[in-house]
Amino acid sequence: MEVVKQQSKISRRLLLFPAPFQGHLNPMLNLATILYHKGFSITIIQIPYNPVNPTHYPHFTFHLLNNSLLESYSKNSPPPDSVTVITDINKTCSEPFRDCLSQILSEAATIDQIQEPIAALIADPLCIFVGSVATSFNLPRIVLRTGSVSALLVYCSLSSLREKGYFPPQGTKLEEPLPEFPPLKLEDLPSETYHDLLETLVRETKTSQGVICNTFEEIEDSSIAKVQQTFPVPIFPIGPLHKQCPASAISISPQDQTSIAWLTTQAPKSVLYVSFGTVASMSKTEFLELAWGLLQSMVPFLWVVRPGLIQGSEANDPLPEGYLEIVAERGYIVKWALQFEVLSHPAVGGFWTHNGWNSTLESICEGVPMLCQPLFSDQFMNARHVSDNWRVGLKLEKGIKREEIARAIRKLMLEEEGAQMRSRVTDLKEKADLGLKEGGSSYKSLKKLISYLLSF
Ligand code: UDP
Repeated sequence: MEVVKQQSKISRRLLLFPAPFQGHLNPMLNLATILYHKGFSITIIQIPYNPVNPTHYPHFTFHLLNNSLLESYSKNSPPPDSVTVITDINKTCSEPFRDCLSQILSEAATIDQIQEPIAALIADPLCIFVGSVATSFNLPRIVLRTGSVSALLVYCSLSSLREKGYFPPQGTKLEEPLPEFPPLKLEDLPSETYHDLLETLVRETKTSQGVICNTFEEIEDSSIAKVQQTFPVPIFPIGPLHKQCPASAISISPQDQTSIAWLTTQAPKSVLYVSFGTVASMSKTEFLELAWGLLQSMVPFLWVVRPGLIQGSEANDPLPEGYLEIVAERGYIVKWALQFEVLSHPAVGGFWTHNGWNSTLESICEGVPMLCQPLFSDQFMNARHVSDNWRVGLKLEKGIKREEIARAIRKLMLEEEGAQMRSRVTDLKEKADLGLKEGGSSYKSLKKLISYLLSF
């Protein structure tokens, strides 16, 4: 890990508290690096589940919460699903977090540290106990929204959508548009199972003193404006965070360096990169259709098959017998790839994704059009924006068969429709780049955030 040189110090410390999932850790650690680079000192408070290795960040100070239940989850195989983990974090981490904060604040009060007061705590709003603990210490709290702002806007309206009778959506109505949130359809809304958690997340966000968002105005301007009207606190859209620092090489999984070497042997824009993130899973039947669809498309592919991708299976070798031999020339399969590096490789011409928000942003930032296969939660809303709003991807419907998969892959990679998507996503990439340059929207927002943090 490259150590980023700090600009002149501004004698303020920030405490950062990420939720322990890859899609939440990456943006928080990127934010930490950006703010370090702006002169803040950084303390990261970690939950003992998927903790990042502190030796990769020698310029940050780390604290680990005491929590034997979550520590044991790290050793479980297979690990519990993410909803169980977050529920247990919220049930069991409040007291350890209070103890940890109390220790950090009392150390900060010593003569040695008085030169470097703590400006604020920046936390993930999935951890819904943080607000009340921070308030009890009189500590200003900012939240980092790691998902899209348009999804946050939907979460804010869940109770009124329920009152209108959208839940549970009735079979025939699923494909109807949702007039309140174009271009979403009813089927894109988060299932009622998650509403309690999402509504608490909104409360935790609204009661903070500011919201940092990993997005940029050029793709979410109207949602950002609406959230700003709804929320009583300032909103700072400063993304895409991963484009602003070299710390993106964060991984809680073992790194596989061979993907890049393989990509280097492939023709420009010829390879479809396939990955469904770090949490989502699919049935064995879906997995097999996907595998055969890839094969039938005749398009070269790099596919991440991580342990846990197939529901109820930790099998090391879930592929059909003989599959690897058949695809040997054309396909490369790994358990983990350094995604932002893969997407920026000249050989990659498309991304078959679950549309987690980080993956969506990373694809846009490299000008790579998408084949969208959302699997749960906000991924359905992200995919709809990709396909129907920005028109930089092709959405696959659930239950899709291998022949249709192969056709969709060829459309994205080889046909005119895909070429138009590539041209539109290249425009968005340029907008993202401009937003980060001096005078750009995210650049200005970051400047405002820094002044705001210094005002506490
Ligand atoms: N990621 C990666 N390699 C992989 C799979 C994922 O580097 O093989 C990273 C990816 O770049 C992204 C994060 O893990 O930053 C996943 O976040 P996202 O929001 O896309 O999906 P989630 O895993 O949270 O569903």
